[in-house]
Amino acid sequence: MKQPTNPLYPPSVDHMLGWPLIQALVASHGRTLVLGCLREALALWRDGTANDPASFMQAVQQLVEKTLVPSMRPLYNLTGTVLHTNLGRAPLPPEAIEAMTAVALGASNLEFDLQTGLRGDRDEHVEQWICRLTGAEAATVVNNNAAAVLLVLNALAQRREVVVSRGELIEIGGSFRLPDIMARAGCKLREVGATNRTHAQDYVQAIGPRTALLLKAHTSNFSIQGFTKALSEAQLADIAREHQLPLVVDLGSGSLIDMQALGLPAEPVVGRVLEQGVDIVTFSGDKLLGGPQAGIIAGRADLVARIRKSPLKRALRCDKMTLAALEAVLRLYADPDTLVQKVPTLRLLTRSAEDIRRTAEALLPALAAWAGSAVQVDVHEVSSQIGSGSLPLELLPSAALRLRSNSPNKRERSRHLRELAERLRSLPQPVIGRITDDSLLLDCRCVEQPAALRAQWEAGV
Ligand SMILES: *Cc1c(COP(=O)(O)O)cnc(C)c1O
Repeated sequence: MKQPTNPLYPPSVDHMLGWPLIQALVASHGRTLVLGCLREALALWRDGTANDPASFMQAVQQLVEKTLVPSMRPLYNLTGTVLHTNLGRAPLPPEAIEAMTAVALGASNLEFDLQTGLRGDRDEHVEQWICRLTGAEAATVVNNNAAAVLLVLNALAQRREVVVSRGELIEIGGSFRLPDIMARAGCKLREVGATNRTHAQDYVQAIGPRTALLLKAHTSNFSIQGFTKALSEAQLADIAREHQLPLVVDLGSGSLIDMQALGLPAEPVVGRVLEQGVDIVTFSGDKLLGGPQAGIIAGRADLVARIRKSPLKRALRCDKMTLAALEAVLRLYADPDTLVQKVPTLRLLTRSAEDIRRTAEALLPALAAWAGSAVQVDVHEVSSQIGSGSLPLELLPSAALRLRSNSPNKRERSRHLRELAERLRSLPQPVIGRITDDSLLLDCRCVEQPAALRAQWEAGV
């Protein structure tokens, strides 16, 4: 049925729902979604942008398509920072994906003991592996390492004092500040020493009847150099033992293996830290470990038991998919010969600069054609970073595709690079690089399958 349309007043919504393209959209995407987009598009009719049926229907279709693009989606991390917190940190191995899919699809023995038929504990799926790989007596897992620190402090030191060196009052990623976490955990911070130097005597003098534990935090994302002194774990463990206090170490990333043996910067090895006499360590699942987001708490059985009993543990616990993925990744650590090849984080961090350069060279022609003649593209030596708080000073030799603008004007060049970065971000699978000085760098360390990335540039020319 035709109805005359007034450019100033849109027809009724009911009437518009009868228009052919709108009906087709409802048939494929559902009434709720299309109705929402149609109502949103009414503003375009009223302001004259789309005030005839054909252009209105097109506007609705565009809104529907925009709404259907998933908000969270995969992208190419060419920033050169392998464990990039904003880009999702550790990529997971297929073994972890399979384990997650298997438990996500239906029921599982998440908290069910198949031998006794009784209720089980969700930690059991990973605890044995953590203990085997670190030498810890017991372990428990929560949502992330910040949660692990919060839980440990709350369970072991609520309404009491925690002694920490002033050099370790760290902030990580702007949202994790040790003093704030400590306040929320209900403990009182007892700072000792100075920013650059803390001595044994500083700790000993701070210990009193209200002291609950000694805390050491790995200063992972910065380094103080020069006139410095901090106590080793072993020295702190001596003090803690003498005063019958637990020593807790927040390792941040930590590692289950010796990173130096892989040619990477040194990172505390969880097992070795525990051997020094540390009672409890906390570390992330999705930093160097290369697993899902999680916070692992490992150490003395009596302390882990107290931590596990805290009501906060219930609030901070991991879901079944995380535990399934973590178990699968920990299992890969059982075979040191295949570990580095199977855990993507370790594989990416140990890639040779030559191998990365070959990937960059294979991508260069497609990128150069896509970028156009106003841009120069070459392969450039760069340094990647581990990221996620691992020492920012220690860099890994890598290769990047470097884009530079041909414009003689500096302002123009910088505008040009920002535009290129935006074009890269709006590709179907967005490409994220980094702008430094006068160039846009696409570090190829994390590109293991260049074909799909190249095809995307080829399609976009
Ligand atoms: C990264 C880090 C944290 C926070 O860990 P998340 O897993 O991101 O919650 C806490 N402490 C240290 C020392 C860290 O490096």
